[in-house]
Amino acid sequence: MSVLAVLEQRAGQWHRMSFETLAAAQQIARELGTTVAAAVLGHGVEALANELAATDVATVYAFEHELLKDYTPDAYTMALEAFIDLFSPDILLFPHTYQVRDYLPKLATRLNRVAVTGVIAHRIEDGELTLVRQLFQGKLNADVRFAGEAPHLASLQAGAYRADHVAKGAAPIEVILPSVELSGIRTRPLAPFRAAEHTVDLSAAERIVSVGRGIKEADNIPLIEKLATALGAELAASRPICDAGWLPMERQVGSSGQTVAPKLYVAIGISGAIQHLVGMKGARTVVAINKDPGAPIFEIADYGIVGDLFQVVPAIIEALK
Ligand SMILES: Cc1cc2nc3c(=O)[nH]c(=O)nc-3n(C[C@H](O)[C@H](O)[C@H](O)COP(=O)(O)OP(=O)(O)OC[C@H]3O[C@@H](n4cnc5c(N)ncnc54)[C@H](O)[C@@H]3O)c2cc1C
Repeated sequence: MSVLAVLEQRAGQWHRMSFETLAAAQQIARELGTTVAAAVLGHGVEALANELAATDVATVYAFEHELLKDYTPDAYTMALEAFIDLFSPDILLFPHTYQVRDYLPKLATRLNRVAVTGVIAHRIEDGELTLVRQLFQGKLNADVRFAGEAPHLASLQAGAYRADHVAKGAAPIEVILPSVELSGIRTRPLAPFRAAEHTVDLSAAERIVSVGRGIKEADNIPLIEKLATALGAELAASRPICDAGWLPMERQVGSSGQTVAPKLYVAIGISGAIQHLVGMKGARTVVAINKDPGAPIFEIADYGIVGDLFQVVPAIIEALK
């Protein structure tokens, strides 16, 4: 039995969720009494592999190939499938990123396996791994166990594990030169979507100020924007705000928007509907500002301010100045 964390980088930068996955892999391996390894795919990943080599894993696998420089589902699948054939890891864990959502089902199909996606927690019972994932917009949690033969594949939801729990250590690096064929790659990558103007990846934000229907009208959004700027935070919103076109859809947090796990999440005039909570309850510290003391958001808030946002927010901005 062995665990492999397959981490994500783009243009030499780690995806923030990579280290959450590594922390989870270390924890699961420890609890199963088995070894853990980490893999990074790309072209020129030496520096990233060196960083991984300072963590407590048995081996760092650095996949090097020029056809892995720009992500394509075909190249990633080819490289990982060949590796799995050769090294037979039992459990492969991935961050539940857009990229992983793109290639993991393909990899699973190639291996004739299923992938358990969006895992939020795990338990070990009688030496068996049980994964927990959410159903019906987070209304139900389902326990899932792998059946059949390894390899088993799972992706981990943002914020489910803590990146700062990665155990330090010293690990050898093994460079893997996968045979990736250009003829097998059926897509040609264009510029990455995150580089496009006006798009934002909230899942990578460390601080988020999020606004809900309590803001009343579009003309009041700049007040919240001011607070976000003062805090060095990204601006986000509940669904009604995006549905109304007051902020772009890419800034929506929740079950039909983005899942975020910042260090700080400030929810302003947001009631705390379950569809919103599933997108942000991985935040480390939640501050809620709401005039209704019975608003459900206060059940998960670390700090609650009961008051009119039109008085509270300007006062905070003033204090921050
Ligand atoms: C299939 C489905 C998917 C969904 N996906 C999402 C999703 O991804 N994200 C999402 O957010 N929602 C989603 N929803 C909608 C969700 O159910 C809620 O309707 C929505 O989250 C409510 O948004 P809100 O909290 O901004 O508004 P409301 O629920 O109307 O809450 C407004 C809050 O503002 C407070 N308030 C009002 N005035 C003030 C003031 N002056 N000062 C301070 N507080 C004030 C009120 O007390 C209230 O708590 C989804 C729903 C469905 C059915």
